[in-house]
Amino acid sequence: MVISSPRRANHWRPGAAGVAAALAMLFGVLAMVDRSSGQADARSRHDGDTVTVVATTSVLADFARIVGGDEVEVRGLIRPNVDAHDFDPSPADLEALARADVILANGLGLEPWLDAAVEAAGSRGRVTDTSTGVHLVDLDGDPVSDPDTTTGGVNPHIWLDPRNARVMSATVTEAIAAALTTRPDGATEVRTRGAAYDRQLARLDSELARQLGGLTHRSLVTDHDAFAYFAQRYDLEVVGTVIPSFDTAAEVSAGDLADLADTVERTGTRAVFTEQALQPDDARALARRTGIEVVSGHDGLLGDSLAPAGSPGDTYLTMMRHNATAIARNLR
Ligand SMILES: [Zn+2]
Repeated sequence: MVISSPRRANHWRPGAAGVAAALAMLFGVLAMVDRSSGQADARSRHDGDTVTVVATTSVLADFARIVGGDEVEVRGLIRPNVDAHDFDPSPADLEALARADVILANGLGLEPWLDAAVEAAGSRGRVTDTSTGVHLVDLDGDPVSDPDTTTGGVNPHIWLDPRNARVMSATVTEAIAAALTTRPDGATEVRTRGAAYDRQLARLDSELARQLGGLTHRSLVTDHDAFAYFAQRYDLEVVGTVIPSFDTAAEVSAGDLADLADTVERTGTRAVFTEQALQPDDARALARRTGIEVVSGHDGLLGDSLAPAGSPGDTYLTMMRHNATAIARNLR
């Protein structure tokens, strides 16, 4: 189902450079926080009025803004269209963590830098792991019942199955509602918005199932292994990935490319879908070799992050519709 490679393990190795960089920033950041702490603490921390949310991914930031409404101030750390697997928190990110009431994480090894950053920032914010209770698969796409006892790792791209997104947004809703300690009316509003958003996610899921259900060709190649959950949900098959690991900075070898070209020819796969956040060079090389279509640029998929604000796919709902439409159009 996917091309295996020992380099996959890179994803779960804590980013030593990132942690070191975060720790190196510690003193500067604490000094900054200290200088402004008087007003900042009084304004936003644990006052139960407005909840300050820091979300690691742009998808989680979107969930928090939608269900939180006026009750929240949200900062997303990994910006739209940025490679989620190659992220280091900046001093401003650590300052945001220091002031956060609620910290939303994807979990499953996507944020190996987070614990050190929270500690370096001296944050008292509660870290919520939004992967709790979602459907999980391992690197071969097989179901995982307990991520802690699975050898070889869990695919972290859980949000690309809308059924998982419903579980995650419910977790976000409860984390924000629980932080509105002195405002039960605000907590009720957050839960009402959470329920309305859950219905939108359910509708999205049925819409995508209809849109992708009738395709004759169901196999595709993607940039990296972000679309395992999406493919499982909508009965597509990712026959291979251009980047044979989650380490999106990894060099693709000539051997990897030759193996993938063989797979493409054997399976009659029609298109390779690049991601907007990544460079399409290797996908183009594969296309030159096999003659398949390269779907890139604005038609490229949105995997690890939303599109930048103002462009198509800048919310979870529009991102998922964009991906489904790009796939449906090119696999007819
Ligand atoms: Zn990814």
